[in-house]
Amino acid sequence: MAGARRPGRNFLFVPGPTNVPDRILRAMHVPMEDHRSPDFPSLTIPLFEEMKKVFQTKEGQVVIFPSSGTGAWESALTNTRSPGDKLLAPRFGQFSHLWIELARRHGLQVVVQEEEWGTGADPDRIEEALRADKAHEIKGILVVHNETATGVTSDVAAVRRAIDAAGHPALLYVDGVSSIGSIDFRFDEWGVDLAITGSQKGMMLPAGLGILCASPKALAQMEAAKCTRAYFNLADHINANAGGYFPYTPALPLLYGLRESLAMMFEEGLENVFARHRYLASGTRAAVDAWGLSLCAKEPKWQSDTVSAIMVPNGFNGADVIERAYRRYNLALGAGLSEVAGKLFRIGHLGDLNELMLLGAISGAEMSMRDVGIQVEPGSGVAAAQEYFRNAYGAADQRL
Ligand code: PLP
Repeated sequence: MAGARRPGRNFLFVPGPTNVPDRILRAMHVPMEDHRSPDFPSLTIPLFEEMKKVFQTKEGQVVIFPSSGTGAWESALTNTRSPGDKLLAPRFGQFSHLWIELARRHGLQVVVQEEEWGTGADPDRIEEALRADKAHEIKGILVVHNETATGVTSDVAAVRRAIDAAGHPALLYVDGVSSIGSIDFRFDEWGVDLAITGSQKGMMLPAGLGILCASPKALAQMEAAKCTRAYFNLADHINANAGGYFPYTPALPLLYGLRESLAMMFEEGLENVFARHRYLASGTRAAVDAWGLSLCAKEPKWQSDTVSAIMVPNGFNGADVIERAYRRYNLALGAGLSEVAGKLFRIGHLGDLNELMLLGAISGAEMSMRDVGIQVEPGSGVAAAQEYFRNAYGAADQRL
């Protein structure tokens, strides 16, 4: 098929950025305006309030940076820690790894708990480490709620129970970049101190907003924290945000997009959003079973509802499947990163998505696998997912 034009849609199935719905694209199509005008707060103040509902917090303070998720990672750490502070962090995938490396660049000491990739944070090991830390040198625990690289979701509530069981005062830092807005996330109930996310996944927006939520306990540590921060200084934001303004020029179209995204999420109902993600993930997992393949997630309790990382059989390279899908079928699948490079490919099933869109991706993955020689039964994954969707439909959404 020669020619540069690729008719039809690109099927974007990486686990972020995700599809931006037309409603949000239209909402972002705005002329620029004065971000210091008296009208501006009527756009911004409700965003902070509505975003708190997504974090499921009453107590938390939400801050919105013009950045990607990485900026919010940095902000969470530099605003609450001093160089030399000790942190505890389970590492079980590329994103938990990168957060640890970022902390180290800021002069923080990170005690790493290595976990097998395909598993997640182990609350028992965390409790053990905290009990052993009699002097309370560990100031924080970094947990990636949903490890996008391996398709693993950790149990943040269990980590909180472990911290409490050890009677330890460390702050709980949670990366919810690929969970918040898609998988149930309870900031207050789980006693999270700093949670961060980005705009380009469950929030259905382009990349460009790093969103952070801080507990009163985290905010109380800001003054004593000595890490250098400038662009990501929380206090500057909190002060300016109180009046509905920002300390520097905000990403205006993204804020209009966020308003629309929040409206869409609440129209659907957060519970329904979570149920839909579980239902779409379950259909994907039915396809993987029918192909006779396995997920990187080692046990069902680790399986993510936003991304499935699918192991390719020995002797095959996941990168070939991804390359074939992209070039031949205009389908973007997620790559294996770092330790799992070549061993898997990922289907992102988060954001603005329904069954038939996902069946397109499953179908494209199936064809691509066959094209590179992986002998999955033609139609098997698609049929399994179809049957799952037909039978489980009502269960996913009580309104149906
Ligand atoms: N954390 C997780 C779990 C992610 O999936 C990502 C990106 O995919 C990041 C952090 C980094 O976010 P960003 O690329 O928005 O800086």
